[in-house]
Amino acid sequence: MQRLSPGATLGILGNGQLGRMLCLAAARLGYRTHVFGPEADSPAEQVATVSTVADYSDETALATFSAAVDVVTFEFENVPAAAAAFLAAHTQVRPSWRALEVCQDRVKEKQFFATIKATTPAWRAINAQADLEAALKDIPAPAVLKTARFGYDGKGQAKLRSAADASAAWNAVTGGKAVQGNGAFAVLEAFVDFTCEISVIAARGQDGKIVCFEPSENVHANHMLDTSTVPARVSAATAAEARGIATRAIEALDLVGLLAVEMFVTPAGGLLCNEMAPRPHNSGHWTQDACGTDQFEQMVRAVAGLPLVDPARHADVVMHNLVGEDVNDLDRYLADPAARIHLYGKREARPGRKMGHVNILKPKSG
Ligand code: AMP
Repeated sequence: MQRLSPGATLGILGNGQLGRMLCLAAARLGYRTHVFGPEADSPAEQVATVSTVADYSDETALATFSAAVDVVTFEFENVPAAAAAFLAAHTQVRPSWRALEVCQDRVKEKQFFATIKATTPAWRAINAQADLEAALKDIPAPAVLKTARFGYDGKGQAKLRSAADASAAWNAVTGGKAVQGNGAFAVLEAFVDFTCEISVIAARGQDGKIVCFEPSENVHANHMLDTSTVPARVSAATAAEARGIATRAIEALDLVGLLAVEMFVTPAGGLLCNEMAPRPHNSGHWTQDACGTDQFEQMVRAVAGLPLVDPARHADVVMHNLVGEDVNDLDRYLADPAARIHLYGKREARPGRKMGHVNILKPKSG
């Protein structure tokens, strides 16, 4: 293992709240942090040792950044391929570009799930409105059309209630623009009548050791995560299968770092994989206060070549996202001794903006 000594510098691409919490975890282990991203006065910049505010395409800034850090990691996966390749040529990058690439594209992601024998909702690659109309014969509505790349929090998605919605859905995801290139632009997915949504965060160290957090049960509001509850209301067999899928996925990607896998639970207790992210995940924020070691520390340990530890949970927990004006409820949480508050330092509470989260703890039930 290439183990970083205290005082070494972790470079982090991206400077949002996930970067902020990574910096805080790195600081606890004695590391300096250098964040790189396009946004000034970002959540991560406020707590990092050093910050570079530059575009991901700025190779001069990337060169200076890579020379100043001991290893580079990511707080989000939608980094341009050219920036990742540039950094890989100049310094050590974990996780590797291959893992990021699979998670950047819904088609590659779904093909990958099939290779590890993990089931997904029925899907078809779509590159034109005619493809969509043909696919609706195999996957009848209700269905969801999703852009293959750069979608998040429900953006770039349209639900089709019937085949008559095809044209409106196509216009919604393309923005009315012509689709260029040969790769699939979007996927059509069968709409799943799930009993609940869960996710598992797996971590893998440089020595190949894998640890998994317990599944969290996730509820979305307005296409954005609202709450994560642990323990999730799933059977022990379903929880074990969910951890098995996350373990197979992180292993097959040969990923050093974190992998979050989101899944739908069917009424029969089966699991259908939705998507993955090779980084800390909003649905893993509960680990900060309910586990011995949280997702951010596991990621720092993995990237820095330190051993991973069993992340055993010591409390029941509900994580509430504070989105937009939710942050005005702060006094209620400040008065609650069971509430652990995490704010991201964003000055303006715009609608739909993640401002922070709160973990409400209860004694462990099982
Ligand atoms: P995604 O961006 O793929 O994570 O989708 C965001 C949310 O939309 C998911 O967490 C689900 O709540 C819902 N959703 C996405 N795909 C489907 C589907 N195929 N069936 C039912 N709900 C879905």
